[in-house]
Amino acid sequence: MTSTIPFDNSYARLPDRFFARTRPAEAPAPRLIELNRPLALALGLDPDWLASPEGVAMLSGREVAPGSEPIAMAYAGHQFGSFVPSLGDGRAILLGEVVGRDGQRYDLQLKGSGRTLFSRGGDGRAALGPVLREHLVSEAMAAMGIPTTRTLASVITGEEVYRETVLPGAVLTRVARSHVRVGTFQYFAARQDREAVRLLTDYVVARLYPEAAEAERPALAFLDRLVGRQAELVASWLLVGFIHGVMNTDNMSVAGETIDYGPCAFMDAFHPQTVFSSIDQQGRYAYANQPGIAQWNLTRLAECLLPLLDPDEDRAVELAKEVLTGFGARFEAAFHAGLRRKLGLFQAEPEDVALAQDLLGRMAANAADFTLTFRRLADAAADGGADATVRVLFADGAAYDGWAASWRERLARDGGEPQARRHAMRQANPLFIPRNHQVEAAIRAGVDADDFGPFRTLLAVLADPYADQPEHAHLAAPPQPEERVLQTFCGT
Ligand code: AMP
Ligand code: MG
Repeated sequence: MTSTIPFDNSYARLPDRFFARTRPAEAPAPRLIELNRPLALALGLDPDWLASPEGVAMLSGREVAPGSEPIAMAYAGHQFGSFVPSLGDGRAILLGEVVGRDGQRYDLQLKGSGRTLFSRGGDGRAALGPVLREHLVSEAMAAMGIPTTRTLASVITGEEVYRETVLPGAVLTRVARSHVRVGTFQYFAARQDREAVRLLTDYVVARLYPEAAEAERPALAFLDRLVGRQAELVASWLLVGFIHGVMNTDNMSVAGETIDYGPCAFMDAFHPQTVFSSIDQQGRYAYANQPGIAQWNLTRLAECLLPLLDPDEDRAVELAKEVLTGFGARFEAAFHAGLRRKLGLFQAEPEDVALAQDLLGRMAANAADFTLTFRRLADAAADGGADATVRVLFADGAAYDGWAASWRERLARDGGEPQARRHAMRQANPLFIPRNHQVEAAIRAGVDADDFGPFRTLLAVLADPYADQPEHAHLAAPPQPEERVLQTFCGT
Protein backbone atom coordinates (compact mmCIF):
# COMPACT_ATOMS: atom_id res chain seq x y z
CA MET A 1 0.00 0.00 0.00
CA THR A 2 1.66 3.23 -1.14
CA SER A 3 0.17 5.80 1.18
CA THR A 4 0.88 9.42 0.45
CA ILE A 5 0.28 10.36 4.08
CA PRO A 6 3.32 11.71 5.94
CA PHE A 7 2.32 10.43 9.35
CA ASP A 8 4.18 11.57 12.41
CA ASN A 9 3.00 10.10 15.68
CA SER A 10 4.01 12.20 18.64
CA TYR A 11 1.37 10.73 20.96
CA ALA A 12 2.59 7.20 20.28
CA ARG A 13 6.02 8.32 21.48
CA LEU A 14 4.64 9.02 24.97
CA PRO A 15 5.05 6.22 27.55
CA ASP A 16 3.16 2.98 26.97
CA ARG A 17 0.63 3.61 29.73
CA PHE A 18 -0.86 6.52 27.73
CA PHE A 19 -2.46 4.24 25.11
CA ALA A 20 -2.88 0.73 23.78
CA ARG A 21 -1.55 -0.26 20.37
CA THR A 22 -4.50 -1.56 18.42
CA ARG A 23 -5.18 -2.69 14.87
CA PRO A 24 -8.42 -1.46 13.35
CA ALA A 25 -10.92 -4.17 12.41
CA GLU A 26 -10.96 -5.24 8.79
CA ALA A 27 -14.01 -3.86 7.07
CA PRO A 28 -15.25 -6.61 4.72
CA ALA A 29 -16.59 -4.37 1.95
CA PRO A 30 -15.63 -0.74 2.42
CA ARG A 31 -17.45 1.88 0.37
CA LEU A 32 -16.81 5.61 0.49
CA ILE A 33 -19.87 7.70 1.22
CA GLU A 34 -18.27 11.09 1.36
CA LEU A 35 -14.75 12.48 1.27
CA ASN A 36 -14.11 16.02 2.45
CA ARG A 37 -11.83 17.15 -0.37
CA PRO A 38 -11.23 20.74 0.81
CA LEU A 39 -10.24 19.42 4.24
CA ALA A 40 -7.94 16.81 2.67
CA LEU A 41 -6.19 19.56 0.73
CA ALA A 42 -5.89 21.75 3.83
CA LEU A 43 -4.21 18.83 5.56
CA GLY A 44 -1.80 18.42 2.67
CA LEU A 45 -3.35 15.05 1.75
CA ASP A 46 -4.10 13.85 -1.76
CA PRO A 47 -7.89 13.58 -2.11
CA ASP A 48 -7.61 11.34 -5.16
CA TRP A 49 -5.54 8.84 -3.23
CA LEU A 50 -7.97 8.97 -0.30
CA ALA A 51 -10.86 8.22 -2.68
CA SER A 52 -8.96 5.36 -4.34
CA PRO A 53 -9.50 1.75 -3.20
CA GLU A 54 -6.28 1.97 -1.18
CA GLY A 55 -7.34 5.20 0.46
CA VAL A 56 -10.78 3.83 1.29
CA ALA A 57 -9.13 0.72 2.72
CA MET A 58 -7.30 2.97 5.16
CA LEU A 59 -10.37 5.12 5.92
CA SER A 60 -12.39 2.00 6.74
CA GLY A 61 -9.69 0.46 8.93
CA ARG A 62 -9.17 -2.43 6.51
CA GLU A 63 -5.51 -1.58 5.91
CA VAL A 64 -3.02 0.26 8.06
CA ALA A 65 -1.18 2.77 5.88
CA PRO A 66 2.61 2.91 6.05
CA GLY A 67 3.76 5.29 8.76
CA SER A 68 0.56 4.98 10.79
CA GLU A 69 0.94 3.62 14.34
CA PRO A 70 -2.64 2.95 15.40
CA ILE A 71 -3.39 3.44 19.08
CA ALA A 72 -6.39 3.76 21.38
CA MET A 73 -5.92 6.56 23.91
CA ALA A 74 -6.46 6.05 27.64
CA TYR A 75 -8.77 8.45 29.48
CA ALA A 76 -11.20 8.67 32.36
CA GLY A 77 -14.10 11.03 32.88
CA HIS A 78 -17.00 12.37 34.86
CA GLN A 79 -20.12 11.08 33.16
CA PHE A 80 -23.19 13.02 34.30
CA GLY A 81 -21.25 13.98 37.40
CA SER A 82 -20.00 10.51 38.39
CA PHE A 83 -16.33 9.69 38.01
CA VAL A 84 -15.39 6.68 35.87
CA PRO A 85 -11.65 6.00 36.23
CA SER A 86 -11.27 3.99 32.98
CA LEU A 87 -13.01 4.95 29.76
CA GLY A 88 -10.55 5.35 26.89
CA ASP A 89 -11.08 5.01 23.16
CA GLY A 90 -13.51 2.12 23.08
CA ARG A 91 -14.54 2.63 19.48
CA ALA A 92 -11.92 4.99 18.15
CA ILE A 93 -8.39 4.43 16.91
CA LEU A 94 -5.85 7.18 16.34
CA LEU A 95 -4.03 6.48 13.08
CA GLY A 96 -1.45 9.20 13.62
CA GLU A 97 -0.83 12.87 13.06
CA VAL A 98 -0.16 15.07 10.07
CA VAL A 99 0.97 18.67 9.85
CA GLY A 100 -1.50 20.71 7.81
CA ARG A 101 -0.84 23.52 5.33
CA ASP A 102 -1.40 25.94 8.22
CA GLY A 103 1.58 24.44 10.06
CA GLN A 104 -0.66 22.97 12.77
CA ARG A 105 -0.55 19.33 13.79
CA TYR A 106 -3.76 17.32 13.38
CA ASP A 107 -4.83 13.87 14.57
CA LEU A 108 -6.44 11.49 12.10
CA GLN A 109 -8.69 9.14 14.01
CA LEU A 110 -11.06 6.39 12.92
CA LYS A 111 -14.32 6.23 14.84
CA GLY A 112 -16.16 2.92 14.67
CA SER A 113 -13.29 0.70 13.54
CA GLY A 114 -13.60 -2.07 16.07
CA ARG A 115 -12.75 -3.13 19.58
CA THR A 116 -9.81 -1.85 21.59
CA LEU A 117 -8.41 -2.53 25.04
CA PHE A 118 -10.90 0.09 26.30
CA SER A 119 -14.07 -1.27 24.69
CA ARG A 120 -15.38 -2.92 27.87
CA GLY A 121 -18.73 -4.46 26.86
CA GLY A 122 -19.00 -2.51 23.59
CA ASP A 123 -18.39 -3.74 20.06
CA GLY A 124 -16.18 -0.82 19.04
CA ARG A 125 -18.40 -0.17 16.03
CA ALA A 126 -20.45 2.76 14.87
CA ALA A 127 -23.76 2.59 13.08
CA LEU A 128 -24.23 4.57 9.88
CA GLY A 129 -26.79 6.99 11.37
CA PRO A 130 -24.56 8.51 14.06
CA VAL A 131 -21.68 8.71 11.56
CA LEU A 132 -23.79 10.72 9.11
CA ARG A 133 -25.01 12.90 11.97
CA GLU A 134 -21.50 13.71 13.17
CA HIS A 135 -20.36 14.37 9.61
CA LEU A 136 -23.18 16.87 9.02
CA VAL A 137 -23.07 18.64 12.37
CA SER A 138 -19.28 18.91 12.70
CA GLU A 139 -18.93 20.34 9.20
CA ALA A 140 -21.82 22.74 9.79
CA MET A 141 -20.09 23.99 12.94
CA ALA A 142 -16.84 24.50 11.02
CA ALA A 143 -18.66 26.45 8.32
CA MET A 144 -20.15 28.71 11.00
CA GLY A 145 -16.62 29.43 12.20
CA ILE A 146 -16.99 27.54 15.50
CA PRO A 147 -13.92 25.59 16.68
CA THR A 148 -14.64 21.91 16.15
CA THR A 149 -13.20 18.56 15.21
CA ARG A 150 -13.74 17.96 11.50
CA THR A 151 -14.85 15.05 9.39
CA LEU A 152 -12.49 13.92 6.67
CA ALA A 153 -14.58 11.00 5.45
CA SER A 154 -17.45 8.65 6.12
CA VAL A 155 -17.33 5.09 4.82
CA ILE A 156 -19.63 2.11 5.04
CA THR A 157 -17.83 -1.00 6.27
CA GLY A 158 -20.05 -3.64 4.69
CA GLU A 159 -20.58 -5.11 8.14
CA GLU A 160 -23.75 -5.14 10.19
CA VAL A 161 -23.85 -3.69 13.69
CA TYR A 162 -26.37 -4.75 16.29
CA ARG A 163 -28.22 -2.10 18.25
CA GLU A 164 -31.98 -2.23 18.91
CA THR A 165 -32.06 -3.31 15.28
CA VAL A 166 -29.49 -4.48 12.75
CA LEU A 167 -27.85 -1.48 11.12
CA PRO A 168 -25.18 -0.84 8.51
CA GLY A 169 -21.77 -0.26 10.11
CA ALA A 170 -19.72 2.80 9.23
CA VAL A 171 -16.47 4.52 10.11
CA LEU A 172 -15.91 8.25 10.39
CA THR A 173 -12.45 9.79 10.08
CA ARG A 174 -12.21 12.53 12.66
CA VAL A 175 -9.64 15.29 12.46
CA ALA A 176 -8.74 17.16 15.64
CA ARG A 177 -6.10 19.58 16.86
CA SER A 178 -5.68 16.88 19.51
CA HIS A 179 -7.85 14.20 21.09
CA VAL A 180 -6.55 14.89 24.60
CA ARG A 181 -9.54 15.51 26.85
CA VAL A 182 -10.03 16.78 30.38
CA GLY A 183 -10.60 13.10 31.14
CA THR A 184 -7.11 12.22 29.89
CA PHE A 185 -5.66 14.26 32.76
CA GLN A 186 -8.15 12.70 35.15
CA TYR A 187 -7.06 9.20 34.12
CA PHE A 188 -3.54 9.77 35.42
CA ALA A 189 -4.46 12.00 38.36
CA ALA A 190 -6.85 9.31 39.64
CA ARG A 191 -3.92 6.86 39.60
CA GLN A 192 -1.73 9.31 41.52
CA ASP A 193 0.59 9.18 38.50
CA ARG A 194 2.08 12.65 38.85
CA GLU A 195 4.82 11.91 36.39
CA ALA A 196 2.24 11.16 33.68
CA VAL A 197 0.24 14.31 34.48
CA ARG A 198 3.44 16.30 34.08
CA LEU A 199 4.33 14.60 30.78
CA LEU A 200 0.81 15.10 29.46
CA THR A 201 0.88 18.77 30.43
CA ASP A 202 4.24 19.23 28.70
CA TYR A 203 2.83 17.50 25.63
CA VAL A 204 -0.31 19.64 25.50
CA VAL A 205 1.62 22.85 26.12
CA ALA A 206 4.17 22.08 23.40
CA ARG A 207 1.52 21.08 20.90
CA LEU A 208 -1.37 23.43 21.61
CA TYR A 209 -0.16 26.28 23.80
CA PRO A 210 3.50 26.82 22.93
CA GLU A 211 3.38 30.39 24.25
CA ALA A 212 2.50 29.00 27.71
CA ALA A 213 5.87 27.26 27.84
CA GLU A 214 7.49 30.67 28.34
CA ALA A 215 5.29 31.56 31.32
CA GLU A 216 6.45 31.40 34.92
CA ARG A 217 3.93 28.60 35.54
CA PRO A 218 3.28 26.83 32.21
CA ALA A 219 0.52 24.61 33.63
CA LEU A 220 -1.32 27.66 34.95
CA ALA A 221 -0.85 29.50 31.66
CA PHE A 222 -2.29 26.47 29.85
CA LEU A 223 -5.29 26.37 32.19
CA ASP A 224 -5.81 30.09 31.75
CA ARG A 225 -5.77 29.83 27.95
CA LEU A 226 -8.07 26.85 27.91
CA VAL A 227 -10.52 28.63 30.22
CA GLY A 228 -10.56 31.44 27.67
CA ARG A 229 -11.05 29.09 24.71
CA GLN A 230 -13.83 27.13 26.41
CA ALA A 231 -15.59 30.32 27.52
CA GLU A 232 -15.59 31.53 23.92
CA LEU A 233 -16.54 28.13 22.58
CA VAL A 234 -19.60 27.75 24.79
CA ALA A 235 -20.61 31.35 24.03
CA SER A 236 -20.48 30.56 20.32
CA TRP A 237 -22.66 27.45 20.90
CA LEU A 238 -25.27 29.52 22.68
CA LEU A 239 -25.23 32.12 19.95
CA VAL A 240 -26.31 29.55 17.34
CA GLY A 241 -28.65 27.54 19.55
CA PHE A 242 -26.39 24.48 19.83
CA ILE A 243 -26.78 21.91 22.59
CA HIS A 244 -23.86 19.51 22.94
CA GLY A 245 -25.87 16.96 24.83
CA VAL A 246 -23.12 15.06 26.69
CA MET A 247 -20.68 17.53 28.22
CA ASN A 248 -18.93 14.87 30.26
CA THR A 249 -15.30 15.64 31.08
CA ASP A 250 -14.21 12.93 28.64
CA ASN A 251 -16.03 14.84 25.92
CA MET A 252 -14.26 18.13 26.57
CA SER A 253 -11.19 18.79 24.44
CA VAL A 254 -8.16 20.54 25.88
CA ALA A 255 -7.70 22.11 22.45
CA GLY A 256 -10.96 24.01 22.96
CA GLU A 257 -12.74 22.38 20.02
CA THR A 258 -16.27 21.03 20.02
CA ILE A 259 -15.80 17.26 20.20
CA ASP A 260 -17.89 14.08 20.43
CA TYR A 261 -21.04 14.70 18.52
CA GLY A 262 -23.52 12.28 19.99
CA PRO A 263 -27.01 13.29 20.97
CA CYS A 264 -26.30 16.92 20.10
CA ALA A 265 -28.79 19.17 18.35
CA PHE A 266 -29.68 22.70 17.33
CA MET A 267 -32.80 24.19 18.84
CA ASP A 268 -35.68 25.13 16.61
CA ALA A 269 -38.06 27.02 18.94
CA PHE A 270 -36.05 28.84 21.57
CA HIS A 271 -36.21 27.69 25.14
CA PRO A 272 -33.26 27.91 27.55
CA GLN A 273 -34.03 24.59 29.23
CA THR A 274 -34.09 22.61 26.00
CA VAL A 275 -32.62 19.09 26.20
CA PHE A 276 -32.57 16.55 23.37
CA SER A 277 -30.38 13.77 24.66
CA SER A 278 -32.33 10.64 25.50
CA ILE A 279 -29.88 9.89 28.33
CA ASP A 280 -30.05 13.33 29.96
CA GLN A 281 -33.12 12.80 32.10
CA GLN A 282 -32.21 15.49 34.63
CA GLY A 283 -31.46 18.17 32.05
CA ARG A 284 -27.90 18.50 33.37
CA TYR A 285 -26.69 19.49 29.91
CA ALA A 286 -29.62 21.71 28.90
CA TYR A 287 -28.88 24.66 26.60
CA ALA A 288 -28.57 27.30 29.30
CA ASN A 289 -26.59 25.06 31.69
CA GLN A 290 -23.66 24.70 29.30
CA PRO A 291 -21.50 27.59 30.59
CA GLY A 292 -21.79 26.38 34.19
CA ILE A 293 -20.95 22.82 33.15
CA ALA A 294 -17.93 23.95 31.17
CA GLN A 295 -16.64 25.74 34.25
CA TRP A 296 -17.32 22.65 36.38
CA ASN A 297 -15.36 20.50 33.93
CA LEU A 298 -12.47 22.95 33.90
CA THR A 299 -12.43 22.79 37.70
CA ARG A 300 -11.95 19.02 37.42
CA LEU A 301 -8.98 19.68 35.12
CA ALA A 302 -7.54 22.24 37.53
CA GLU A 303 -7.68 19.65 40.32
CA CYS A 304 -5.45 17.38 38.24
CA LEU A 305 -2.98 20.20 37.62
CA LEU A 306 -2.67 21.40 41.24
CA PRO A 307 0.67 19.68 41.95
CA LEU A 308 2.13 21.46 38.91
CA LEU A 309 0.86 24.91 39.86
CA ASP A 310 2.78 25.43 43.08
CA PRO A 311 4.60 23.23 45.63
CA ASP A 312 2.44 24.83 48.33
CA GLU A 313 -1.02 23.30 47.99
CA ASP A 314 -2.92 26.29 49.37
CA ARG A 315 -1.15 28.58 46.97
CA ALA A 316 -1.87 26.18 44.09
CA VAL A 317 -5.59 26.17 44.94
CA GLU A 318 -5.59 29.95 45.15
CA LEU A 319 -3.96 30.28 41.73
CA ALA A 320 -6.36 27.79 40.15
CA LYS A 321 -9.40 29.49 41.69
CA GLU A 322 -8.37 32.85 40.33
CA VAL A 323 -8.22 31.48 36.80
CA LEU A 324 -11.43 29.45 37.12
CA THR A 325 -13.36 32.39 38.53
CA GLY A 326 -12.40 34.31 35.42
CA PHE A 327 -14.49 31.93 33.31
CA GLY A 328 -17.71 33.85 34.02
CA ALA A 329 -16.45 37.21 32.86
CA ARG A 330 -14.78 35.72 29.80
CA PHE A 331 -17.91 33.83 28.84
CA GLU A 332 -20.04 36.93 29.30
CA ALA A 333 -17.69 39.12 27.30
CA ALA A 334 -17.88 36.70 24.37
CA PHE A 335 -21.60 36.02 24.71
CA HIS A 336 -22.58 39.66 25.07
CA ALA A 337 -20.42 40.75 22.16
CA GLY A 338 -22.06 38.01 20.11
CA LEU A 339 -25.56 39.12 21.11
CA ARG A 340 -24.72 42.67 20.02
CA ARG A 341 -23.59 41.37 16.65
CA LYS A 342 -26.77 39.35 16.35
CA LEU A 343 -28.86 42.45 17.05
CA GLY A 344 -26.85 44.60 14.64
CA LEU A 345 -25.37 46.91 17.28
CA PHE A 346 -22.05 48.45 16.30
CA GLN A 347 -21.57 50.40 19.55
CA ALA A 348 -21.83 49.00 23.08
CA GLU A 349 -24.28 50.39 25.63
CA PRO A 350 -24.83 49.01 29.13
CA GLU A 351 -28.50 48.24 28.47
CA ASP A 352 -27.80 46.08 25.40
CA VAL A 353 -27.71 42.83 27.31
CA ALA A 354 -31.08 43.58 28.90
CA LEU A 355 -32.45 44.33 25.43
CA ALA A 356 -31.18 40.98 24.14
CA GLN A 357 -32.47 39.12 27.20
CA ASP A 358 -35.86 40.75 26.74
CA LEU A 359 -35.99 39.41 23.19
CA LEU A 360 -34.87 35.92 24.28
CA GLY A 361 -37.51 35.91 27.02
CA ARG A 362 -40.23 36.81 24.53
CA MET A 363 -38.95 34.20 22.09
CA ALA A 364 -39.09 31.54 24.80
CA ALA A 365 -42.61 32.55 25.84
CA ASN A 366 -43.76 32.49 22.21
CA ALA A 367 -41.88 29.44 20.88
CA ALA A 368 -40.16 31.60 18.29
CA ASP A 369 -37.68 29.84 16.03
CA PHE A 370 -34.19 30.80 17.24
CA THR A 371 -32.40 30.82 13.90
CA LEU A 372 -35.09 32.48 11.78
CA THR A 373 -35.89 35.17 14.34
CA PHE A 374 -32.33 36.51 14.28
CA ARG A 375 -31.88 35.96 10.57
CA ARG A 376 -35.05 37.90 9.72
CA LEU A 377 -34.10 40.70 12.10
CA ALA A 378 -31.33 41.50 9.60
CA ASP A 379 -33.97 42.41 7.02
CA ALA A 380 -36.12 44.19 9.60
CA ALA A 381 -33.11 46.30 10.60
CA ALA A 382 -32.90 47.74 7.11
CA ASP A 383 -36.61 47.85 6.31
CA GLY A 384 -39.42 48.17 8.86
CA GLY A 385 -41.68 46.49 6.27
CA ALA A 386 -39.91 43.21 7.05
CA ASP A 387 -41.20 43.23 10.65
CA ALA A 388 -44.13 41.08 9.56
CA THR A 389 -41.75 38.25 8.64
CA VAL A 390 -40.36 38.23 12.19
CA ARG A 391 -43.60 38.69 14.09
CA VAL A 392 -45.20 35.61 12.46
CA LEU A 393 -42.54 33.52 14.22
CA PHE A 394 -44.03 34.49 17.61
CA ALA A 395 -47.15 32.78 18.94
CA ASP A 396 -48.33 36.26 19.86
CA GLY A 397 -46.96 38.76 17.33
CA ALA A 398 -47.52 41.61 19.78
CA ALA A 399 -44.69 40.22 21.91
CA TYR A 400 -42.36 41.02 19.05
CA ASP A 401 -43.86 44.45 18.33
CA GLY A 402 -43.27 45.60 21.90
CA TRP A 403 -39.63 44.59 21.75
CA ALA A 404 -39.05 45.87 18.21
CA ALA A 405 -40.00 49.40 19.29
CA SER A 406 -37.18 49.51 21.88
CA TRP A 407 -34.76 47.88 19.44
CA ARG A 408 -35.49 50.54 16.81
CA GLU A 409 -34.83 53.32 19.33
CA ARG A 410 -31.54 51.66 20.17
CA LEU A 411 -30.63 51.27 16.47
CA ALA A 412 -31.34 54.97 15.91
CA ARG A 413 -28.83 55.86 18.64
CA ASP A 414 -26.33 53.37 17.26
CA GLY A 415 -26.05 55.14 13.92
CA GLY A 416 -24.51 53.29 11.01
CA GLU A 417 -25.84 52.70 7.56
CA PRO A 418 -28.87 50.34 7.26
CA GLN A 419 -27.41 48.19 4.46
CA ALA A 420 -24.09 47.84 6.29
CA ARG A 421 -26.04 46.75 9.37
CA ARG A 422 -28.08 44.24 7.41
CA HIS A 423 -24.92 42.84 5.88
CA ALA A 424 -23.17 42.54 9.25
CA MET A 425 -26.23 40.89 10.82
CA ARG A 426 -26.42 38.32 8.03
CA GLN A 427 -22.82 37.35 8.83
CA ALA A 428 -23.68 36.92 12.51
CA ASN A 429 -26.94 35.02 12.00
CA PRO A 430 -26.80 31.85 9.91
CA LEU A 431 -29.79 30.86 7.82
CA PHE A 432 -28.91 27.17 7.54
CA ILE A 433 -28.27 25.08 10.64
CA PRO A 434 -28.43 21.27 10.76
CA ARG A 435 -32.05 21.10 11.79
CA ASN A 436 -32.83 17.87 13.52
CA HIS A 437 -35.67 16.85 11.26
CA GLN A 438 -33.53 17.40 8.17
CA VAL A 439 -30.60 15.52 9.68
CA GLU A 440 -33.00 12.67 10.48
CA ALA A 441 -34.41 12.71 6.95
CA ALA A 442 -30.90 12.54 5.47
CA ILE A 443 -30.02 9.65 7.81
CA ARG A 444 -33.24 7.78 7.02
CA ALA A 445 -32.62 7.96 3.27
CA GLY A 446 -29.05 6.70 3.75
CA VAL A 447 -29.83 3.94 6.23
CA ASP A 448 -33.16 2.73 4.86
CA ALA A 449 -32.69 3.23 1.13
CA ASP A 450 -28.91 3.52 0.62
CA ASP A 451 -29.70 6.93 -0.85
CA PHE A 452 -27.09 9.53 0.11
CA GLY A 453 -28.52 12.28 -2.10
CA PRO A 454 -30.32 14.07 0.77
CA PHE A 455 -27.19 13.75 2.96
CA ARG A 456 -24.97 15.28 0.26
CA THR A 457 -27.41 18.08 -0.49
CA LEU A 458 -27.71 18.99 3.18
CA LEU A 459 -23.93 18.82 3.64
CA ALA A 460 -23.37 21.15 0.68
CA VAL A 461 -26.01 23.64 1.86
CA LEU A 462 -24.57 23.69 5.40
CA ALA A 463 -21.14 24.52 3.98
CA ASP A 464 -22.46 28.02 3.20
CA PRO A 465 -24.73 28.80 6.17
CA TYR A 466 -24.88 32.58 5.73
CA ALA A 467 -25.93 32.62 2.06
CA ASP A 468 -29.60 32.64 1.03
CA GLN A 469 -29.51 29.65 -1.37
CA PRO A 470 -33.17 30.19 -2.39
CA GLU A 471 -33.33 26.83 -4.21
CA HIS A 472 -32.83 25.15 -0.81
CA ALA A 473 -35.15 27.39 1.21
CA HIS A 474 -37.05 24.36 2.57
CA LEU A 475 -33.89 23.27 4.42
CA ALA A 476 -34.03 26.50 6.44
CA ALA A 477 -37.60 25.95 7.56
CA PRO A 478 -38.49 24.87 11.10
CA PRO A 479 -40.16 21.47 11.40
CA GLN A 480 -43.88 21.06 11.03
CA PRO A 481 -45.38 19.75 14.28
CA GLU A 482 -45.37 16.18 12.93
CA GLU A 483 -41.73 16.50 11.79
CA ARG A 484 -40.42 17.60 15.16
CA VAL A 485 -37.60 15.49 16.62
CA LEU A 486 -37.73 15.61 20.41
CA GLN A 487 -34.94 13.21 21.30
CA THR A 488 -31.52 12.38 19.96
CA PHE A 489 -29.48 9.32 20.81
CA CYS A 490 -25.87 8.50 21.54
CA GLY A 491 -23.75 6.81 18.94
CA THR A 492 -23.40 3.73 21.11
P1 AMP B 1 -19.42 8.64 24.52
O1 AMP B 1 -20.56 8.75 25.44
O2 AMP B 1 -19.82 8.37 23.12
O3 AMP B 1 -18.49 9.81 24.63
O4 AMP B 1 -18.58 7.34 24.94
C1 AMP B 1 -18.27 7.08 26.29
C2 AMP B 1 -17.33 5.91 26.39
O5 AMP B 1 -17.92 4.73 25.84
C3 AMP B 1 -16.02 6.08 25.66
O6 AMP B 1 -15.01 5.48 26.42
C4 AMP B 1 -16.24 5.34 24.37
O7 AMP B 1 -15.03 4.91 23.78
C5 AMP B 1 -17.08 4.17 24.83
N1 AMP B 1 -17.91 3.63 23.74
C6 AMP B 1 -18.92 4.23 23.12
N2 AMP B 1 -19.46 3.44 22.17
C7 AMP B 1 -18.76 2.28 22.18
C8 AMP B 1 -18.83 1.06 21.44
N3 AMP B 1 -19.74 0.86 20.48
N4 AMP B 1 -17.94 0.10 21.75
C9 AMP B 1 -17.03 0.28 22.71
N5 AMP B 1 -16.92 1.39 23.45
C10 AMP B 1 -17.77 2.39 23.19
MG1 MG C 1 -16.81 10.51 24.21
